[in-house]
Amino acid sequence: MRNSRVGAGTISKMNLRETILASGESDCVTLICPCCFSGTWETVQRVRFASLSKCSNCGLLATTSFLKKYGALEALYDVTPQNHEEYRKHYLASRLSFYNGILPKLDRFRQTSHLLEVGSGYGYFLGMASQRDWDAEGVEISQYACDVARSRGYKVHQQDLLAVQVAFESYDVVVMWDVIEHLANVGPIVERCAALLRPGGALIARTPDGRALNCTKGFMAAAYRHFAYPANTAEHIFHFTPETLSLLVTRNGLKEIEIDSRGAWEERPVSGRSAFVRIGRYLVLRHSYIKGWPYEFVMTAVKG
Ligand SMILES: [Zn+2]
Repeated sequence: MRNSRVGAGTISKMNLRETILASGESDCVTLICPCCFSGTWETVQRVRFASLSKCSNCGLLATTSFLKKYGALEALYDVTPQNHEEYRKHYLASRLSFYNGILPKLDRFRQTSHLLEVGSGYGYFLGMASQRDWDAEGVEISQYACDVARSRGYKVHQQDLLAVQVAFESYDVVVMWDVIEHLANVGPIVERCAALLRPGGALIARTPDGRALNCTKGFMAAAYRHFAYPANTAEHIFHFTPETLSLLVTRNGLKEIEIDSRGAWEERPVSGRSAFVRIGRYLVLRHSYIKGWPYEFVMTAVKG
C-alpha cells in the first residue's frame, strides 16, 4: 500500500517518544495529543507494520513505530509514474465511486463555489468537482502528482497547507479524502482549514474508522485488522474514531458535526501485488462488509 495515497503536509518533527528514541533525534518532545492536549500515552497493540499507542485521556490511537521501518516519511509521498499506475490499477475506481457519491452532498454549502482539496493528489476529485461547476483548487506536496493535475488544467498549490497563500474565510468547502490520518501536525492543519472556510462553510473529511481496531475477536476479525482494514499501512499516524475526530474539529471552532460511516461496497479498494493476496483481501473485506464492521467514515463539520 506504499504510496497508495498522496498526502498533504510534511513531517517536520515526529514527537512520539518511541519514534524519537528510534530516530536518534534529540530536539523533539513527547507528543501532545491533538484532540485533548494530554501527553500521556500507553502502548496498546500492534497492527501489521504499526505498534499503536493510545491517549490515556481521550482514547486517540497513534502509530508509534513506522519510522523504525521506513525512515524519513517525506519519501513515502515522493510519488512516481509507477505509483500513479498502481493507483489507477488498484484504487481509482473505488475513489471515483466515492467522489461520485459525495459531490451532490456538497451542494448545500455552495455560495461562492470556492472549494479546496487538501492532498489533491493527481487531481481526479478536482476534475469531478469542476464538472459540477465548483471553482476547485488543490494543495499537494508531491511534485509529480501536482504536475499530473496541472497538466489537466487544475489549479494546485505545491506546498504544505500552512504555507499556502490563500484568502481566509473564502471557501465554501474544504475537503480531505484519506489524508487527515497521515498528518503529524494535524492540529494546526485543522485549525487552518477552519480559518479558510467562510462562516457556514464546511470541512468534510474521510478517514479510516479507528473503531475497526477494536472490533470483535476471532480469526476473521484479526485478518481484517491486519490484512484488509485500510489503517494497517505504515503511513497512518493517527487512527481517528468519530469521537476523537469530532473532539479535534470542535476544538477548532467547527460544529454541527455529522458522521456517515455507511460507505458503499464499491468504495473499498482491493489492493495487492499478487492475485493470491487480492483474493484473500477481497474475501476478508467482503466478510467485514456483510458483518458491518467499521471501515471508514465521512465527517462533516460546519464553521459557526
Ligand atoms: Zn487525547
